[in-house]
Amino acid sequence: HQILVCAGTGCTSSRSVEIQSALRRELLARGLDGEIAVVHTGCFGFCELGPILVVHPERVFYCQVTPNDVPEIVERHIVQGQTMDRLLYKHPPEGASRNTIDENEFFHPQIRVALRNCGIIDPENINEYIASGGYFGLAKALTAMKPTEVIETITRSGLRGRGGAGFLTGRKWAYTAAVKETVKYVVCNADEGDPGAFMDRSILEGDPHAVLEAMTIAGYAIGAQQGFVYVRAEYPIAVHRLEVAIEQARRAGLLGKNILGTGFSFDIEIRLGAGAFVCGEETALLNSVSGKRGEPRTRPPYPAISGLWGKPTLLNNVETYANIPQIICKGADWYAAMGTSGSKGTKIFSLAGKINNTGLIEVPMGTSLRTIIYGIGGGIPKGKAFKAVQTGGPSGGCLPAEYLDIPIDYDSLMKIGSMMGSGGLIVMDETDCMVDIARFYLEFTQDESCGKCTPCRIGTRRLLEIITRITEGKGTMKDLDLLEELGHDIKEASLCGLGQTAPNPVLSTLRHFRHEYEAHIKEKR
Ligand code: SF4
Repeated sequence: HQILVCAGTGCTSSRSVEIQSALRRELLARGLDGEIAVVHTGCFGFCELGPILVVHPERVFYCQVTPNDVPEIVERHIVQGQTMDRLLYKHPPEGASRNTIDENEFFHPQIRVALRNCGIIDPENINEYIASGGYFGLAKALTAMKPTEVIETITRSGLRGRGGAGFLTGRKWAYTAAVKETVKYVVCNADEGDPGAFMDRSILEGDPHAVLEAMTIAGYAIGAQQGFVYVRAEYPIAVHRLEVAIEQARRAGLLGKNILGTGFSFDIEIRLGAGAFVCGEETALLNSVSGKRGEPRTRPPYPAISGLWGKPTLLNNVETYANIPQIICKGADWYAAMGTSGSKGTKIFSLAGKINNTGLIEVPMGTSLRTIIYGIGGGIPKGKAFKAVQTGGPSGGCLPAEYLDIPIDYDSLMKIGSMMGSGGLIVMDETDCMVDIARFYLEFTQDESCGKCTPCRIGTRRLLEIITRITEGKGTMKDLDLLEELGHDIKEASLCGLGQTAPNPVLSTLRHFRHEYEAHIKEKR
């Protein structure tokens, strides 16, 4: 037997560390500690029902476990070979025995590429990563592929940047590789800051070696010898596991000088961010890594030409990198066979808000919102009606029920006035006020604006004043035109992505829920 206990941030905050200690104590007391391993893993994804524990080899899935349940689990499951019914998942699909992790509605429809090791391996043990196929992609790239072949494979896979903009990853690599410079850098953007988003955090907590392996492959492909992971200091578990992983990879000869005896050298350092949302913007992030104020600058020049310390720099986010080793191992065609024609592969989404199964999921691009919200997500709590879903965090938009059946990918979301963003999905039910929701996001972006350019600094402030006036019942119909006009001006004239997308929640709610704004205005009369 092996008992896997979730040690992601969610389960850790609901005492999973105590559960692990209680399991080890109980097994020791019964003389079973030599036979049964207790392994702490990254997030399983089903955060709603944490703390989660899975017993192998049967793969029985126990939810909402407490330290007090441990003696009974050991006695009933390990010693007597029975399952503990009261801790099993409560909503099995038709015909399932509901005992195993593979059978329930949350896990069954998912395809896990970037999350493949999360909840499976001990993220602080490099041997478990290697045993699950880890560093095979790096070995293949370094020994059997030319740098151009690596880039060609990534390009043909169709992988697009998972941080939000959706730029073709292989093309970005090719641009950086083409610049003739002896010093180049590879950077990982782990400055995830959208409210309700925890995709990158969970990858770093559950599978940090995947990101290190991918960055090293990228270094080989573009001709860089140094990488940086820019991660926010509010992610202490992720930072700790990254530190452990870097140390282990160096000791194993998988980072540092002469990797695997191939003559290629590459090392990675961590840089901690102080929690400014704007530092997720690439030029602000690069400024922050090099010790300057975290403010965006105009582009061009793009980081591929002039990034860190003026040198060519390749920047991708955590989820993008987490796909790379698998693409190298299994090939571009394997990856490109998943998803839609314009958006290949899978995408991680964090489910939050008014949804039964809060958590982290990975599905092929093109999956409908209905499958995600009503299938995997288990629908809306207390049988309430669905009203809207916010996709893409503060940069995205609110979509009403009529869009539940569109296949979601980069392009379809743009067409309907929202965006993929990094993958946060926040669900609203019939009791939520869409004007309040728009106001919440605007307050966030207005607060996070770095203040460098006028349209964003002053424009978001004015937008917030107008929308506040409406929520307080002091607005007029003219204010709605003003919101739209000003929103479009801010999008057009702002320097960086933060300002260019800040009005989206207001504009999309005005487009789809204008009657709620009008109701606020009419109510006062
Ligand atoms: Fe700063 Fe906003 Fe201008 Fe971006 S758009 S540079 S966040 S003021």
